[in-house]
Amino acid sequence: MDGYAGKILRINLSTKEIFKAPLPEKMCDEFIGGRGFVAKILYDELPPDTDPFGKNNLFIIATGPLSGHFLPASGKTHFGSKSPATGGYADSNMGGHFGPALKYAGYDMAVITGKAANPSYLYINDDNIEIRSAKAYWGHGSLTCEEMMKKDLGKDFQILTIGPAGEKLVRFACISHDFGRQAGRTGIGAVLGSKNIKAIAVKGTGAIPVFDLEKAYAKGKQAFKKVSQKPGFKGWTPEGTAGITDWVNEVGALPAKNFQTSHIDHSSEINGKKVIERLKITDKGCYCCPTPCGKYGHTITSMGSAYMEGPEFETISLFGGNCLLKTIEEVAYANYLCDELGIDTISGGSVAAFAIECFEKGLITEKEIGKKIKFGDLESIVYLLNLMSKKETASEKIKNGSEKFAIHVKGLEWTGYECRNAPSMMLAYMTADVGAHHNRAWVLGHDVVGAATNVHDLITAGADGAKRSKAVVSPKDSAKFVIDSQHIRPAFDLLGCCRLQMMELGFEVENYAQLYSVITGKKITWDEKVWNLTRLISAREI
Ligand code: SF4
Repeated sequence: MDGYAGKILRINLSTKEIFKAPLPEKMCDEFIGGRGFVAKILYDELPPDTDPFGKNNLFIIATGPLSGHFLPASGKTHFGSKSPATGGYADSNMGGHFGPALKYAGYDMAVITGKAANPSYLYINDDNIEIRSAKAYWGHGSLTCEEMMKKDLGKDFQILTIGPAGEKLVRFACISHDFGRQAGRTGIGAVLGSKNIKAIAVKGTGAIPVFDLEKAYAKGKQAFKKVSQKPGFKGWTPEGTAGITDWVNEVGALPAKNFQTSHIDHSSEINGKKVIERLKITDKGCYCCPTPCGKYGHTITSMGSAYMEGPEFETISLFGGNCLLKTIEEVAYANYLCDELGIDTISGGSVAAFAIECFEKGLITEKEIGKKIKFGDLESIVYLLNLMSKKETASEKIKNGSEKFAIHVKGLEWTGYECRNAPSMMLAYMTADVGAHHNRAWVLGHDVVGAATNVHDLITAGADGAKRSKAVVSPKDSAKFVIDSQHIRPAFDLLGCCRLQMMELGFEVENYAQLYSVITGKKITWDEKVWNLTRLISAREI
C-alpha cells in the first residue's frame, strides 16, 4: 500500500508472542494514521473497564502515511492507551526520529499488550524482533538510559525510554526520545512501566513505497521551498515556542503561583531571548524539519549543572511562571530533571505549584512533606520533583479541601495558559477529549484579538498587536473557533507531521492534502470521525 510500510507489529509481553499482521487498507482509508489508528484500535480492542496498569491495557505506537517521507517535518509519532491520569482515552505524540525508523523497519504501528515477567526492552531491527532483558538499564534516568543503549546497540538505533517515574507508575510519567523529545501527556510512560518495558529500540533499513515518486519528490522539494519563503521563517525558528513567553505574559495569560494570577514581573528573564543568550549550544530539529525549534544547551545553577534540550514555552510557563523560578537557568534545570526522571514538565510544574500552594495555606505541613517549600525556590522544586518520581506525593491524599487548588480537566493538568482572560482557550481545555491540552485547540489569539491568527503574526505585530481587541469575543464565536481548531489540528496527528509549519508560519494545509495524494495515490478526507471515536472511548471508560 503506497505511503505505508504495510504491517502492524503485535507483541504480547505475557506470552512472548510476536507476529506481523497486514495493515488493513480500510483502516487506512477511514482513519489515515497516527491518532486515527490509535482511536480505532483502542475502540475495537480495549476491553471495557480495563485497569490502565493491567496487562489488558494496550500500548500503541502509530505513525502516519506521511511519516518518514521527503517533506517538511515528517517525524511525528503517536502513542495511545487507556490513560492512568484520566481513566479515559489517552494519546500523546513526540517528534524526533523514532516513527520514520519504525516505518523503515517495516511497521506502521506496534500494538503491545500483556506484561513482561521482568524488566525488559523491545529490540526491533528490521525483521528481527526480540524482548530483551533491561536489567542493566532499569532504575536509570531516561536520558542516561538512552545514552547507555546508544553505546550498547549503536547510534543507528532510535530509542525511546521511560525514567524512574515511569517505572514507579507515576500517573504523569512521560516517554523520552532523542535526548529531549517527549510524549509527555496522559501518563503514557507509566503504561509502559506497568508492562515492565524500560525502552524500545528500533533500526530500520527498508524503503516505503510511493505512488508517484517523481511527483512526490518534486512536491516535497517545493514544500521545503514554500516553508522557507514564509515571512515568519527566519524569525520564528531561532527562539521556537519560547518566543511567545513575553506576549502570553503581556496579555495576562501566563499562569503564576498555581494559577492564582496570570502575570509575572520577570518574563524578560525567562523568555526565548534568554534561552539563546544563556543556554543554547545549537539548534536541534526533528526528522526532516526545516525549522529546528529545539534548543540544545547547558545550564549551571545552585542545584547543579546539566546538558538538556529546551526549555520550550510550556516548560517555561509552568516552572518560570507557575512555580516562579526566577532565571532561565533554573527553569532549564527543572526541565532537565523532569526529562531525566521521566516526568511530563507540564504536569510536573503544575503539581509542584499545587503542593506549594497547599503548603502556604497550611493544608500540608513541613512534617508531612519533609521540608519547607516555597514559590521561586529551585531547591523546593528539585525536592518536589524527586518526591514525585518516587511516587511519594499524591494530590488526592492531601485532602483538607485541597481539591479546589488542583488545576486540571478530567484529571489532566492544564498546559501553560491561564484562562481567566481567555474564554475560548478555557472552552478548548474543557472540551478536549484527553483533558486540558493545547494540542487539541490553541485559540488564545482569538481571545486576545478576536480573529483567527497565528502566534508569529501576533508577536510581529508588536505592542499594538499584543493589545486586547476592544470587541469582546462572543461565546458563539468562541465555540466556532474551538470547533474549527479541533477539527483541523487532527490532520497533522493523523498524517504524522508537525503542525508548527502550518500554525506558526502559515504553510497552507492544502499542501499536505497534495503531498498525501502523490504519496498514497488517494484523496484525503478527514472529518469528525476520529474526534467522535476518542470521545466515545472516554464516555465508555470514565
Ligand atoms: Fe520538531 Fe520543532 Fe521541527 Fe516541529 S518545528 S518538527 S517540533 S523541530
